[in-house]
Amino acid sequence: VCGLFFALGSVSSKKLVVFTVASENNDGYNRFIDSANLYNIKTKILGLNKPWQGGNMNGVGGGYKLNLYLEALEPYKNNDNIVVLLTDAYDVVLLADSTTVLNKFIEFNSSIVISTENSCWPNGKLADQYPTVDQNGYRFINSGGIIGYASQLYKLLSEKPIKNLADDQLHLTNLYLNTDLREKFNIKLDNYAKLFQNIYLAEDDIKLKLVNKSYVLENINFNTQPAILHGNGLSKMTFNSYTNYIPNKWSPESGCNTCYDNNLDLSTLKEEDYPIVLLSIIVDKPTPFFDEFLDKIENIDYPRSRVFLSITTLVDYHKEQVDKFILKIGDKYNASFVFHKTVEDSIHARHLSFSLCTSKSCDYLFYIENEAHLDNPQTLKILIQLNKKIIAPMLTRPFKAWSNFWGALSSEGFYARSHDYMDIVNYNKTGTWNVPYIGSCYLMKGKILENKYNRPSYKGNNLDYDMAFCKSLRDKGVFMYIDNHHTYGHLIDSESFDITLKNPEVYQIFENRYDWTQRYIHPEYTDNFNPDKKPAEPCPDVFWFPIVTEQFCKEFIEIMENFGQWSDGTNNDPRLDNGYEAVPTRDIHMKQVGLQNVWLEFLRLYVSQLQEHVYLGYYSDGPPRSLMNFVVKYNPLGQASLRPHHDSSTYTINIALNSPGKDYQGGGCHFLRYKCKVTDLKIGWMLMHPGRLTHYHEGLEVINGTRYIMISFIDP
Ligand code: UDP
Repeated sequence: VCGLFFALGSVSSKKLVVFTVASENNDGYNRFIDSANLYNIKTKILGLNKPWQGGNMNGVGGGYKLNLYLEALEPYKNNDNIVVLLTDAYDVVLLADSTTVLNKFIEFNSSIVISTENSCWPNGKLADQYPTVDQNGYRFINSGGIIGYASQLYKLLSEKPIKNLADDQLHLTNLYLNTDLREKFNIKLDNYAKLFQNIYLAEDDIKLKLVNKSYVLENINFNTQPAILHGNGLSKMTFNSYTNYIPNKWSPESGCNTCYDNNLDLSTLKEEDYPIVLLSIIVDKPTPFFDEFLDKIENIDYPRSRVFLSITTLVDYHKEQVDKFILKIGDKYNASFVFHKTVEDSIHARHLSFSLCTSKSCDYLFYIENEAHLDNPQTLKILIQLNKKIIAPMLTRPFKAWSNFWGALSSEGFYARSHDYMDIVNYNKTGTWNVPYIGSCYLMKGKILENKYNRPSYKGNNLDYDMAFCKSLRDKGVFMYIDNHHTYGHLIDSESFDITLKNPEVYQIFENRYDWTQRYIHPEYTDNFNPDKKPAEPCPDVFWFPIVTEQFCKEFIEIMENFGQWSDGTNNDPRLDNGYEAVPTRDIHMKQVGLQNVWLEFLRLYVSQLQEHVYLGYYSDGPPRSLMNFVVKYNPLGQASLRPHHDSSTYTINIALNSPGKDYQGGGCHFLRYKCKVTDLKIGWMLMHPGRLTHYHEGLEVINGTRYIMISFIDP
């Protein structure tokens, strides 16, 4: 009878009040409040900034919540016009306004409606006592969402006392399974997610749907649009991912709606007012292109007087570079610290930077591992302005889907690909994303490190330090964000970096092509294709291109000299299949120094395009083929010149690895048929000429010093 009475009331005569419990003003709490504010729903927060008395929520507990609700309902105990929504805070968002919520509630014709889920927790034995539900509706109570008339809720919760540490869900279940009470209070369960959607074990039932250019949550099983979304139990990561989009967070048309809401503005600050940053660099494995990494650290645009620089080198390999770097610019920072430690201390080293940050009263700790290249010097400033507790700039391995964040976690806590991972990595969707894992580089507020006993930790049971760190943040309810509004930089792949090699970066064309190109390809290379510029043609059909950098030439020569086994310049050449070389030089083959495949890749990426650009209509059949790729060494003591000959190639390339006039006198290439000599060779520039028939040529005598050239006979 009671229920009937209440159900007959109209929405306009009812008022919605929301009660939630939050002992801490944390990220989840703020997300909940933002959603309530979006719909202008007034919320009363219970237990804020008071010790949580409901036990450890990973197990049974939460009775405390019901006691707080009961206390808060007391003033309304005789009020039949107020409808109260009792909801968790940290893992809940509201998705509709008061009228919608009230309407949905009234449609139940009930006094109290409780949310449901697919698991009967914490006491599975009670499952059979639940009424059966048609069409696979959710059968069991979830205590994270209850709605009802204030007077009725008060009475229901007064029926039986509950201890703070007892389980709220079990308590509510027992009340509901008592059929007398169920009838007395006309309690109904929201079996079809009309009002409440609990995500756990219902992940496949829900979907985001675009309606009027923004996303709504739809339960595709029951064709409902729930008004309250709850990441109950183990579904918190999935829930977090949904809340990147709803309510009204991100849409294809407007992008991120809230990313800039609470941003800071650094532009108005005087230098001395900038936040203090501890720049903590962790060098924990041999990593290619480390000099470039340090250059980018140096380029970070931020007042150095406000930066403490700490570099921890856990491997010998980079020590010298780090010491040089500190010598060069260490004194420009507020202070700099260098720690050289051993790998075993890797976790300790990371924790040390927390203590350092606190001891310097830093506002931020900017953590950077040496695989993280910050190509964008504004990264630090941008991240500070985004104003999150912890945020990572999205970094990816160029040309690969590998990045420094995970969009989802597997049930074992490892990487899982989220539905939007590729869109984020490829910048199809840009924003600031709440994700379960970030790594390599992030900015965290000093505040989260202040309390020595409640800091995040890199130490975890059988977990790698990075996973342990993210888990500890998740356990503390700290949201980790990845931002891809801007491009910030990229990640180096150091997995196959072989430091036993001389100049090992030269070998990295496959793993780290982007960095390889940056270091080794001539800055004017792309200009070779400028349609307004004709390629240099010093002799007929001999073209001349800038192709590699001086650093490439230097490192290449060093590799050859380090190897040292130059051939003897005779016709007997055991390196060849037939053991005979008609036009021998003193040289080293790429195969001998393990660079054959690197070189073929170089030909494919950078040389064949140039050939197609100048010798129109000729295409290698597939990637350019070349069996003979070698560095030749000319000097007066060994071999000073090479007699006229044809090359057994379709075309030949000849790259000057050092400079005439400076490194040697004489030298050059003479094309006899055209009576044309190229002698003013330029380091890093490549001559390209046809191999057979027309371009009979000789190597001119080197009179003094040593001349090095790199030769390939392409498409023999
Ligand atoms: N809660 C709180 N402080 C705590 C733990 C929990 O205020 O230390 C509140 C908060 O509203 C939270 C709710 O209790 O959303 C339920 O906790 P939790 O979300 O961890 O439980 P679950 O939904 O996973 O059962």
